[in-house]
Amino acid sequence: MSEHFDAIVIGTGQGGAPLAVKLAQSGRKTAVIERHLFGGTCVNVGCTPTKTYVASARAAHVARNAVDLGVIVEGPVRVDMARIKARKDEVIAGSRNGVEKWLRNTPNVTVFKGHGRFTAVHSIHIDGHDGHSHDLDADAIFINTGTRAIVPQVEGIERISYHTNSTMLELTELPEHLVIVGASYVALEFAQMFRRFGSRVTVLVRGERLLAREDHDVAAQIQKVLSREGVDFRFGTEMSRVEPAGKGVRIALGDEFITASHLLFAIGRTPNTDDIGLEHAGIVPNRPGLIDTDGQLRTKVDGIWALGDVNGRGAFTHTSYNDYEVIASNLVDGEARNVDGRIMCYAVFVDPPFARVGMSEDEVRKDGRPALIATMPMSRVGRARERGETDGFMKVMVDAATNKILGAAIVGIEGDEAIHTFIDIMTADAPYTTLQRAMHIHPTVSELIPTLLGNLKPLT
Ligand SMILES: Cc1cc2nc3c(=O)[nH]c(=O)nc-3n(C[C@H](O)[C@H](O)[C@H](O)COP(=O)(O)OP(=O)(O)OC[C@H]3O[C@@H](n4cnc5c(N)ncnc54)[C@H](O)[C@@H]3O)c2cc1C
Repeated sequence: MSEHFDAIVIGTGQGGAPLAVKLAQSGRKTAVIERHLFGGTCVNVGCTPTKTYVASARAAHVARNAVDLGVIVEGPVRVDMARIKARKDEVIAGSRNGVEKWLRNTPNVTVFKGHGRFTAVHSIHIDGHDGHSHDLDADAIFINTGTRAIVPQVEGIERISYHTNSTMLELTELPEHLVIVGASYVALEFAQMFRRFGSRVTVLVRGERLLAREDHDVAAQIQKVLSREGVDFRFGTEMSRVEPAGKGVRIALGDEFITASHLLFAIGRTPNTDDIGLEHAGIVPNRPGLIDTDGQLRTKVDGIWALGDVNGRGAFTHTSYNDYEVIASNLVDGEARNVDGRIMCYAVFVDPPFARVGMSEDEVRKDGRPALIATMPMSRVGRARERGETDGFMKVMVDAATNKILGAAIVGIEGDEAIHTFIDIMTADAPYTTLQRAMHIHPTVSELIPTLLGNLKPLT
């Protein structure tokens, strides 16, 4: 027999868990289903663990270069992978357990551990981890099932051992030679951190440049920093075959071969929508398997919503969390909101970081409207000079007719924080002159943003 709920949330990702709590607090009897780790990708195998590794990698880098700041570190700097992993495990366990406790302790929430799938439009079957199955139905169902790493179907793949972001974070030994396939932010973050840990790192890039969706100057700057640190980029390469080689892997790139002690695939992610019975709900996913929604994140089927990476409206923790906020505003708080107007922003956590909001320079050029642009090297920023970390630049594009900021990018020390100056002024829909006239604190990265805006010139 089916148990009735007011709401069912499938998946406890960045949107699902807070949504379940909010719905329950509004008096709705809510079921939440998690088949693996509470907190989902970000907490367990995404943002949080990788950023603890970025912190360890930076500590190694700073120690190696401490002499430049007059600090003597005796002997070679080495890392202890087991301790780096143990520290990561401790940090993520705190978050994961926190999410589980939060859900279990919220009145009106029932937690099910198992795999949920639709059996009809408003019915869900759960294969429970406790060996029992459960049938539930609800008026409102929210899909927050996230994504998983893509593994390429290259010849020989079934004979080798390889890594994704998840297994890579379980290593307790330092890879001797890590080969990474991919050129996106996940690939680059892993490349720099393992190079800084002391591995030899080779990155295989199918095209001729990194970060294909970003401006050329951004990609070139990041490549320059990583190459200087010893990451070896091989552009225009495609794996044709893989085979075991001792404890490692031999990779054929056409007629050429390279051997890796560890192979990491970071070529993209695929939505977890292929095994949730969407056909029984009457939802047809689009080509990459994403679920189309309107601006309020409603699917085409009444009473079913999709939030987080699966709706294709951003693939970040902050977009998933914002999806939750928008759904909660509409359903619980009685405040009409939608995601159509939100301004996209994100960061790549290489060091120095790259952060971006709104349109890129390429997008502004393609758009064709009269625009202004300003760029400034980080060597102009006092904070960067004082730290001896002057790599990178800031860039901003402005609509020449309205004086509104169209987009901004910072590759440089603390760019991931300073970008919020732009995010906030764009969200306030104020002209750039408001920001230009603000008084900022010295000596920070943000203090140079008004100066940057003073350099605006027509984009030609
Ligand atoms: C290596 C890496 C680094 C990243 N770093 C960043 C970063 O620095 N900043 C950032 O903003 N984003 C980052 N991301 C992206 C970020 O992790 C995701 O965008 C974020 O987790 C949002 O996911 P979500 O809410 O869609 O679902 P997820 O977090 O993926 O959670 C989905 C949950 O659903 C569960 N589930 C799936 N199917 C079922 C089912 N049928 N039944 C029950 N449960 C199910 C899964 O087990 C999972 O727990 C990173 C991603 C990766 C891989």
